[in-house]
Amino acid sequence: MPYYLAERDKKIVVVSALGHLYTIAGERKGRNYYPVFNFRWVPRYIAERGATQIRTCIETISKLASEADLFIDACDYDIEGSVIGYCVLKYACGNKETISKRMKYSTLTKEELEKSYAELLPHLDFELIKAGGTRHEVDWLYGVNLSRALTIAARKWSGKYTTLSTGRVQGPALKFLVAREKDIRSFVPTPYWEIKAEFKINGSVFEAEYEKNKIETKSESDAILNMCEEEKGQVEKIVVRRFQQKPPVPFDLGTLQSEAYGLFGYTPKRTSNIAQRLYLEALISYPRTSSQKLPPEINYEAILKKLSKVHKYKKLAKELLAKTKLKPREGTKKDSAHPAIYSTGELPERELHDSEKRVFDLIARRFMAVFSEEAIKQSMKVHIKVNDHLFYLRGRQTLKEGWLHFYEPYVRSEEVFLPPIKEGQTIKVKKLISEDKFTKPPPRYNPSSLLKKMEETGIGTKATRANIIQTLYDRKYVREERMVVTNLGFEVLEVLEKHCPPVVSIELTSELEERMDKIQAKREKRENVLMDTVEILKPVVQELKEKEKIIGEQLSNAIKRAKLEERIVGTCPVCATGKLIILYSRKTGKRFIGCTNYFKGKCETSFPLPQKGSVRPHGRNCRGCGWPTVQVRIKGKHPWTLCFNPDCPSKKERRKK
Ligand SMILES: [Zn+2]
Ligand SMILES: [Zn+2]
Repeated sequence: MPYYLAERDKKIVVVSALGHLYTIAGERKGRNYYPVFNFRWVPRYIAERGATQIRTCIETISKLASEADLFIDACDYDIEGSVIGYCVLKYACGNKETISKRMKYSTLTKEELEKSYAELLPHLDFELIKAGGTRHEVDWLYGVNLSRALTIAARKWSGKYTTLSTGRVQGPALKFLVAREKDIRSFVPTPYWEIKAEFKINGSVFEAEYEKNKIETKSESDAILNMCEEEKGQVEKIVVRRFQQKPPVPFDLGTLQSEAYGLFGYTPKRTSNIAQRLYLEALISYPRTSSQKLPPEINYEAILKKLSKVHKYKKLAKELLAKTKLKPREGTKKDSAHPAIYSTGELPERELHDSEKRVFDLIARRFMAVFSEEAIKQSMKVHIKVNDHLFYLRGRQTLKEGWLHFYEPYVRSEEVFLPPIKEGQTIKVKKLISEDKFTKPPPRYNPSSLLKKMEETGIGTKATRANIIQTLYDRKYVREERMVVTNLGFEVLEVLEKHCPPVVSIELTSELEERMDKIQAKREKRENVLMDTVEILKPVVQELKEKEKIIGEQLSNAIKRAKLEERIVGTCPVCATGKLIILYSRKTGKRFIGCTNYFKGKCETSFPLPQKGSVRPHGRNCRGCGWPTVQVRIKGKHPWTLCFNPDCPSKKERRKK
């Protein structure tokens, strides 16, 4: 466990924690019982298996603390950091939380750390700590009771152990997904027709859309085609509109996550991990913020000057520095602890990974863009009349680039140039196109849109949402990027909705979030929130216990089906009715692929599989032969796709070479 020595007005020892060193545990040991309403805070190595490093860390801190006469908490200034620092001071240092001072900063640059050390806050932020502690306690009460109830019910029925989890926020998040999944499955697509016309103007062809987006019947669509084909159109009017596009607002964590998802396909969790690394190297400010404000104290000018040393930002930064006044455009969201995410102007001391480079650049450009001017655009809508039918030809042009020029790699260009056209002009219809389409179901959530939904409905916090989404994947309640709810996900939610609707209620969850926030503002008492939590949970857990048998049966069957589902590789290409599945030989224990129709005595198709590493269905078909494939993973190697078809043409080609 390393620590560092520094010399200022006196000798300073700097020692770090490893995230949370303390956590909540039930007063009674073991995991095989519920309900659990009595808890205490304990070192993590006592409550969690494998947390052995934590012991060394706590011992080191305790030893150093015994020789110290002054304590300063310099953990991240937010709800989690404050709880971490408080627990270390209270438990590892021996009740030093009341005399400790606090450093507050938003970047890890040398200047800001020096300043924050010189201007120490006189004491810890006890309201924030209380609010944070309560969150942990409430979440623990929900998680431990509900997850144990489900896990124990399933195990008692089947005799097999599978961790089933749900939590205060996880249940409601799953509920959003299930509701959407049901909408999608019950959606009945209706046909409609879409008509476009191609016009020839000055030798070039332009596509115009019909006045009505959706035409309900084929006969109506045909009639329009008959009326307009081979005809001439007349430009009836041209509507030109000029409008402004304001610069974007600075990034808070949520908008950074959603932008990085849209641009790079990074999950919210990945983005927050990358941002955390950039923050630790002092390249950006504290990322877990909900602020969209950039106060002048961060010194815009100094940051831009530093950024101007980077070749690709040089011109842009100089342009901003030449302005008489630097004023950022800001959003409405606030955060009392930190400003919005911004570049510190510090430059990386090592070669950044590609993903880090991308996020770094995105934040730097966003930071500059907010100081720039609005863009001015012009849209043009040309109304063309063909035998009483109206078509619209649209153009779009940027007149003044403004901030677009700063944020340019990350904005889609929407320029559509039109040739010079005059009202009254006659133009020829070159071709009419009618496409038959179907109305589409609502889209599935992806990690980014689910995170947004959670934000909007006020469930979870910026520090926890991304992890909760990851847990839904880890527990196999959802799969794929466009989140598909698995049977297991469906059944778990069904059990919860049927037997304990309060724990998946969106309203109750967001109400509880609000009350926990109020603790921080001294408008709510920790004791009341905890007491009410227990009151909600008591009858719920009681009901789960009484119905343990039915619930156990339902969940066990769902787990069994889920495990089978995981082994299905695809449709059998030989009999076309069975499914190919990964099986284990009774005799040798070796794995292979077989057809489910074998058990009905109908198909004997089977293929060998590699025995090393792990094999799982890939979900994609082979490009060479169209058969389903599996993915093989061996530790230390890149996973690869295996086509097990011995006659696959792509294999023969390779052999010839
Ligand atoms: Zn078969
Ligand atoms: Zn193949």
